[in-house]
Amino acid sequence: MNIPFVSFKPLEKELDTYIHAAFERVYTNSWYIDGNEGKVFEEAFAEYCGTRYCVGCGNGLDALILSLKALKISTGDEVLVPSNTYIATALAVTYVGAKPVFVEPDIRTYNIDPVNIIEKITSKTKAIIPVHLYGQPCDMEKIVDIAQKYNLYVIEDCAQAHGATYNGQKVGSFSNIAGFSFYPGKNLGALGDAGAIVTNDEKLAKMVRALGNYGSDYKYHHIYKGNNSRLDELQAAFLSAKLPLLDRINIERRSIAKRYMNEIKNTKLILPYVLDGVEPVWHIFSIRSVNRDELAAYLFEAGIGTNKHYPIPIHLQEAYKELNIGQGALPIAEQISATQLSLPMYYGMTEEQINYIIDKLNAF
Ligand SMILES: *Cc1c(COP(=O)(O)O)cnc(C)c1O
Repeated sequence: MNIPFVSFKPLEKELDTYIHAAFERVYTNSWYIDGNEGKVFEEAFAEYCGTRYCVGCGNGLDALILSLKALKISTGDEVLVPSNTYIATALAVTYVGAKPVFVEPDIRTYNIDPVNIIEKITSKTKAIIPVHLYGQPCDMEKIVDIAQKYNLYVIEDCAQAHGATYNGQKVGSFSNIAGFSFYPGKNLGALGDAGAIVTNDEKLAKMVRALGNYGSDYKYHHIYKGNNSRLDELQAAFLSAKLPLLDRINIERRSIAKRYMNEIKNTKLILPYVLDGVEPVWHIFSIRSVNRDELAAYLFEAGIGTNKHYPIPIHLQEAYKELNIGQGALPIAEQISATQLSLPMYYGMTEEQINYIIDKLNAF
């Protein structure tokens, strides 16, 4: 059997008529930037997240950069980020001139450990960016408490967690402002690059909109030196076509995760740990093994696609050599990088495929 790490085909088949209708609508209107499709999607997505405002932008990285800029975080400031995340989280901080300070995760949940946050706070710390990694919400109650106590902003990186809940509340609604990515492979994906912020703060929403539109509050009137990062009408229309399916997509991912959790029984493998009160959306189903590379090769031989998230921690990337954080400095992130493997997890996986994966993992 051949099972890819991810396939969009089953979802595309189901969405076919809606996607074509979305394209027709935009093309017939001949209006491609800053129009009704954007507005409609932003309203629907804000409502979905339980926030007052949503502002679309070009991608998930820009959503974080625009959030940091709107909070006036810049040179000389420090921002706490998890030591194990996609590099975008740290790059956003670097791009506004601030310094990313890495906080080690909880080895069970792979999310930023509130216990490790406090020791990294200095007089320069301005914000914390918790990342709901692999689709599992961080321990937001503790993080928000620390932020309030030390007067820090919280920016949620929700790029992997559309629709995930913590104590019944959706991610994106716990912080000053939150960034989403609609990269095609995310739980809610566009047909290209797209992103958004959500917030309850009207001033921040307006600032992000202006900053992503050449710093303009109305046509040819510029209040900031902004850049160009907008959600275009086509991607907004595609996202509106897909949003009604998001809950079903997440429910299906949960049922696949449940089968993996209940039926993978192999002492060589470490399965995910889910915090109490949390409903993950399983952007990635992540297992760990000290024999990770051997396991990946074995699954490859069996026709099962896997991936690593992420094989090199940010502090050991060439791009961040200026930080001078050597091997061994962030042992939990390094341990995850060395042992982590992501299993196939997507809408439309068949029972037969799931059975096969579970059988192969149990025979390893
Ligand atoms: C995908 C991702 C981003 C960046 O999103 P893009 O749309 O690719 O720019 C940021 N943070 C995390 C955690 C991500 O997974």
